[in-house]
Amino acid sequence: MSQDRRYSFEFFPTKTDAGHEKLLATARQLATYNPDFFSCTYGAGGSTRDRTLNTVLQLESEVKVPAAPHLSCVGDSKDDLRGLLSEYKAAGIKRIVALRGDLPSGMGMASGEMRHANDLVEFIREETGDHFHIEVAAYPEMHPQARNFEDDLANFVRKANAGADSAITQYFFNADCYFYFVERVRAMGVNIPIVPGIMPITNYSKLARFSDACGAEIPRWIRKQLEAYGDDTLSIQRFGEQVITEMCEQLLQGGAPGLHFYTLNQADASLAVWNNLKLPR
Ligand code: FAD
Repeated sequence: MSQDRRYSFEFFPTKTDAGHEKLLATARQLATYNPDFFSCTYGAGGSTRDRTLNTVLQLESEVKVPAAPHLSCVGDSKDDLRGLLSEYKAAGIKRIVALRGDLPSGMGMASGEMRHANDLVEFIREETGDHFHIEVAAYPEMHPQARNFEDDLANFVRKANAGADSAITQYFFNADCYFYFVERVRAMGVNIPIVPGIMPITNYSKLARFSDACGAEIPRWIRKQLEAYGDDTLSIQRFGEQVITEMCEQLLQGGAPGLHFYTLNQADASLAVWNNLKLPR
């Protein structure tokens, strides 16, 4: 397995002190595996502005792992984003995950001065030059609002051409869609690393809800088995661990340049996969 692959873990900023302490405890546990970076999500429209900022700063200064804030452009003004970028730059943050974001329903789509992630990538480059390594999102199964697959591919290419350095995918449970996506964008002249986003399976009803919202397909053979386990969490976790480990093996054997785990602020499920894969520590 190549050593220059990159491995990362994603968190979301919590609302309570207890949740935040739990996040830090999880991060400390994950830090012993020497990941390349942690990332922390951002509530579109700035709803988690301070919490994302504080979490990222604490992950760097206390947990001592490079941390990348997510930043989204819908609902935020250029002035807000400029301010945040300069705070991150001053704090020595070197990587940003640049997104359009999804405003909570009812807030409307048209607010903010930028409408698409490629506008944000361009803006970050204009404001801060090459200071940040910019990650963008990729959708091997197509973004749910895209007009069609070809249009979505072209929009992904726009983000790369606007100056993105690498991409993290939406999660999926079918390695073929990842390989197909990578092959198509390579044929369109885009060579940035595209790292699969991995969602460990631990809870069926939550996963089904998330997947409906973000357009990730749970294949029938997985869905049916998870449904049949009902409340048997242990069996769900065992089955999930096996399915995700096997998919990650396929991805890495097929040349994926690393893995990005959506931890949901929990360590065990991601680490089980990491250990099964015998990833470097
Ligand atoms: P875009 O790349 O702008 O794409 C959105 C849609 O618009 C697509 O359908 C695309 O085809 C279309 N499009 C793109 N550019 C253009 C253009 N120039 N003209 C016309 N159409 C265009 N959400 C959050 O709110 N906070 C987070 O922290 C967060 N983190 C995420 C991390 C990862 C790794 C991923 C995969 C997603 C994350 N999301 C987050 C969700 C993301 O914000 C949503 O999926 C959102 O709907 C799209 O964001 P995007 O950056 O992919 O947008």
